[in-house]
Amino acid sequence: MSLYESLGVTPIINAAGTNTRLSGGMMHPDIRAAMAEAADWCVEMHDLQAAASRAITEATGAEAGIVTSGAAAALTLGAAACVARFDVAQMHGVPIRTDRDQFVMARSHRNMYDRAVQSAGCWIEEVGIPDRFSGAGIRDADAEDFASAFGARTAGVLWVAQPWAEPALADVVRVAHDAGLPVMVDAAAQLPPRANLRRFLDAGADLVCFSGGKAIGGPQASGILAGRRDLVASALLQMLDLDLPPAQFALPPEFACDDAPKQLPRHGIGRACKAGKEEIVGLIVALRRFVAEGDAPQAARLRAVLDRVRAPLGNAPGVSITEGPVPLLLLAMGSPAEARAAEAALRARHIHIGQGRLRDGVLVVNPLALAERDIAPLGQALRQVCGLLDR
Ligand SMILES: *Cc1c(COP(=O)(O)O)cnc(C)c1O
Repeated sequence: MSLYESLGVTPIINAAGTNTRLSGGMMHPDIRAAMAEAADWCVEMHDLQAAASRAITEATGAEAGIVTSGAAAALTLGAAACVARFDVAQMHGVPIRTDRDQFVMARSHRNMYDRAVQSAGCWIEEVGIPDRFSGAGIRDADAEDFASAFGARTAGVLWVAQPWAEPALADVVRVAHDAGLPVMVDAAAQLPPRANLRRFLDAGADLVCFSGGKAIGGPQASGILAGRRDLVASALLQMLDLDLPPAQFALPPEFACDDAPKQLPRHGIGRACKAGKEEIVGLIVALRRFVAEGDAPQAARLRAVLDRVRAPLGNAPGVSITEGPVPLLLLAMGSPAEARAAEAALRARHIHIGQGRLRDGVLVVNPLALAERDIAPLGQALRQVCGLLDR
C-alpha cells in the first residue's frame, strides 16, 4: 500500500501549476536526497541560514538572504524588518505596538498575499486609482502619490512585481529613498525568467521575496527573503529561536552589521513561520539547480512534457501551446459553460487544471507540477472529457 493510500488520501494529477492548495509541485530527486541527508543530522540554525545566504547572494546579487517558510513568510518577515530595523523594543512590539505600522502600496497592486504584510501589524495605505474598470480611465498611481502618502508611521513600500506593474519600480524607489524608506518587492511567482532574480534589486529594491516552491522547484514550504544586509539580519533576528545566553550568540559574518543589537530579542514574529533544516537545504539545492538549468533548457523541457500530454489529442481544433519561459497547453472549448463542465469532470477524476481562463472558455494545462507518471493519463483524460476529437 502506498503512503498516501495508507493515510486515506487520494493523490491528484496537478496540471494547475505549483498551487499551494494543491501541495505545490514536484521536487527533483537530487533535492529530495539532500533533504533526506539534512534530516539525518543536527546543526545550528544560524550556521545553516548563513550557508543559505551565501547561495542566495550568489544567485541574486543581494547583500544577504535567508530561507523562510514561503514567500508569504518572507513578506511578513520583511515587513517586520522594515518596522523594527535593529530596535529590539520595536521587535518585541511587532505586530501590535510599534512606532511604524504602515506600508504604502499602489491600489492596483492589492492582492490576496498582502495580508502577509498586515500580519506584521501593518496597515496598508493605498495610493492611486487604477481607473480601468470603468472603461474610461487610463491612469494608475504616480510616484508622487507615494511621496504624499509617506508619514511618520510609514515603515516601507510594497511593490508587487508583474510585467504590467505601474508605476515603474525605479520611480517608486526614488521617492521612497528620498524619504529614507525601504521598498520591498513581492516577486513570489516571477521566476522564470532567471534575470528576475537580480532585476528588482538592481532597480533599487531593498528587499525581494521569492517563493521556493514554485518554479524554483524547492520544498513547498520554502521561500527567499533577499536584499539589504541590515534588513535581512533584522528579519533573521525576528525568526531565529534565540533562547540562549547572549554571550553564546553572534550574527554570522554573512549578516554582520555595525549597528546590529547586542541584546537578543525574544521570540519574534518569525518564530511562528519556522523553516526547518530540511527546507533550507532543499531550497539551497533547488536554487542552484534552477540557476544552472537556464531559461531556454527549462522551457524546452517543459514544452516536451506538454507535447506528450497533447499527443493523444492529435490535431484537434482549439488546442495550442504558448511560447514563454513556462509554456502552457491551452484547450479552447466552445463556451465558458463547456469549459467549466470539462474542468469539473476532470476534477471528479482527481485531475486539476488551471482555472484562470475558464471565463474565456479556455482550459489551461501547466506543466510545472506534473510527474512523469501523470503524462499519459492526463492526455487520455483530456481527450475523453473534452470530447475534442468529436468536434
Ligand atoms: C504564491 C505567491 C505568494 C506566496 O508564496 P508562498 O511561497 O506560497 O508563500 C505571494 N505573493 C504572490 C504574488 C504569489 O504569487
